[in-house]
Parts: sequence; structure tokens; C-alpha cells
Amino acid sequence: MSQIFVLAEHRKGSLREITWEMLNKGAELASRSGSELVAVLLGNRMDSFAGELAHGADRVLVVEDEQLENYNSEIYQNVLSRLLSEYEPVLTLIGHTAFGMDLAPSLAAEMGMPLSTDCIDVDLEGDKLTATRQMYGGKVNAEVSFAPAKQYLVTLRSGMFPAEAAATKDGKIEKSDFPPSATDRKKFIEYLEAAIGAVDITQADVLVSVGQGIGDIKNMPLVEELASSLGATLSCSRPVVDRKWLPKGHQVGTSGKTVKPKVYLAIGISGAFQHVAGVKASTIIAINKDPKAPIFRVADYGIVGDLFQVVPLLKDKVTALKGS
Ligand SMILES: Cc1cc2nc3c(=O)[nH]c(=O)nc-3n(C[C@H](O)[C@H](O)[C@H](O)COP(=O)(O)OP(=O)(O)OC[C@H]3O[C@@H](n4cnc5c(N)ncnc54)[C@H](O)[C@@H]3O)c2cc1C
Repeated sequence: MSQIFVLAEHRKGSLREITWEMLNKGAELASRSGSELVAVLLGNRMDSFAGELAHGADRVLVVEDEQLENYNSEIYQNVLSRLLSEYEPVLTLIGHTAFGMDLAPSLAAEMGMPLSTDCIDVDLEGDKLTATRQMYGGKVNAEVSFAPAKQYLVTLRSGMFPAEAAATKDGKIEKSDFPPSATDRKKFIEYLEAAIGAVDITQADVLVSVGQGIGDIKNMPLVEELASSLGATLSCSRPVVDRKWLPKGHQVGTSGKTVKPKVYLAIGISGAFQHVAGVKASTIIAINKDPKAPIFRVADYGIVGDLFQVVPLLKDKVTALKGS
């Protein structure tokens, strides 16, 4: 039976959401292609992660070693190249994260395997793989096919698939004996936390997102106060970053981050496709004075009005509701 491998990603004692996103996509591909879905877990003392992953994969392949405690691309590659040669999965999915961007190209070069990076979708029919990638800053979705190969490697962009653990499987946990050979070119030193004040908009449940319609940096407190009254995180469109009204880490879109909050409140944002491509929210609410603004095409609720009138009213309403 052919196999699809998903490389589990973990950091500082927790599995990262991208792992579940890849497992959900991997499960869909495995069920259509009749393949076995295998979560590959490299680390040290991994029992609890292996148990969690067994609910999302047919099998969990665990390699434990002290050298695998923290991510190190050289050591990971050393183990993975031998696992891929031994088990020959038709497809291996790796997150398009800092970790996957470092690992996948070098692994593909060593294995002589075709690689497609930063894919927003992937399909497998028999041994024919197609991947969808964005080109020209997100204006075009290109479907990429590969020369036939026995094994393929794909990195998937975060936020493109549901991250909820499907918890439908009861996979076997198998410890694999592929200890890393000692390497000394790269060494893990420490994780550096993002600067104080930096935000992770990808993890927020509620985002108050501000666009160029805010007009000037001196008007930013208006949206900051609304965000704080809602307990929301502040995000923005690209011009807001270009004008240095907010740091780059707050930018949503193809050249920023993909977000998946429960609620996305877009204030003074036109809704350019490069922006909305990064919004995978359950509910989008838009405030814009132009009834023809493209944001209303994707919004679940819309208020046509001047944000300088609407936002203070909204903030007062929220404050009053919290006080009652
Ligand atoms: C390669 C490339 C990558 C890009 N990547 C990104 C990206 O990652 N993220 C991103 O956001 N953009 C990105 N862009 C830019 C994108 O094309 C748009 O230019 C941008 O999203 C527009 O931002 P905006 O909606 O804030 O501003 P605008 O397009 O200027 O829209 C402002 C909106 O505010 C409304 N408005 C104005 N005043 C008020 C008011 N008083 N009350 C209510 N509404 C008001 C207007 O009606 C308008 O709809 C990219 C572009 C390129 C070429």
C-alpha cells in the first residue's frame, strides 16, 4: 500500500497547528488514493505527542533521540533521508514554515526528489501529483504538475486547511530505529522570543483590521481602543505597514500573514484580492464608506458608513454591553 508522510512540527513542548492542517489534507488524499497516512514524529520523549497524532493518522512513526529534542535541519535531514529511502512514501508533506523552508529544499536535493514549495493545495491521483501555488504576488493560482517520480515532496502554506484535530483515527504507534548520525556543522542554541509588543495575528480569535481609510497615524487610537474594548488583536492592510502606522507583523495578505480568526472586522479596507486572500475568517464584518468596495463581496455583514462615525458608536456600544 502506498504511503503519505506528514512531518509533525513541534516547538517548545507543543505540536504546531500546521501539523493538523497537513494531517487533514493528507487524510483526504489518502482516502481518495487508498494510501496509508503516516505522521512522522522526530524528537525526544515524544509519547504524549505520538498519542495525540495517532488520532489523526493511520500510523505514527516515531524516531526519538536526544539530538532531535530541538529542530536542527541537518539532523532532521539525516534521519528523514533514511526514512524516505526505507519506506518510500509517494508523497511527503512538510509545513511551509521557517522550519520547512530550511529543511525541504536540501532534503529534496539530497534525495533527487521533485519539490514544490509554499503550495496552497495539492492533489494526488495514482502516482500523479499536482500542486497549486500562487504567482505574481497572488494574482494567479498556478497548477503545477511534475515529471513522473516515485516520491514527491511538498511544503504546504499554513492556514490553508482546517487545523482542528480530526480525531477520527486510532493509528498504530511505531518506534523506528534510525538514530541520527552525529553531525556538528549546525547546532541548536536557543529559541529567541519575538520582541516585546510583537503580536501573532495568526493565533487571534478576533481581529480588528485597519486599512488606509483610517487616513493618518494620528487616527490609529480610534481602532486601537475598539480592539481593546473587544479584547481583539489589531491587524492591517499593507498600505498601513508601508506608511509605518503599524509594524509588518500586523499585515494580513499574500505578502503578509494568513489569518483564521472567528471574527474579522475590516475597517476602511477596500478588499483587494491580495488582502482577502489572507483572510480565512469564520465571519467577516466590513465598515467602508464606499458601497461598491470589493470587501462587501466577501463580508458576511457590512456597514456602509464613515468609520469616524461608526467606530466610536461601536466602541461605546461594546463598552456599555460590558458594563451592563
Ligand atoms: C505583489 C503585491 C502584494 C500585496 N500584498 C498585500 C498584502 O499582503 N496585504 C494587503 O493588504 N495588500 C497587499 N497588496 C496591496 C493591495 O493590492 C491593495 O493595494 C491594498 O490591500 C489596499 O489596502 P487598503 O484597502 O487599506 O487601502 P485602499 O485600497 O486605499 O482602500 C481604503 C478603503 O477605505 C475606504 N475608506 C476611506 N475613508 C473611509 C472612511 N472615512 N470610512 C470608511 N471607509 C473609508 C475606501 O472606500 C477604501 O475602500 C499587495 C499588492 C501587490 C502588488
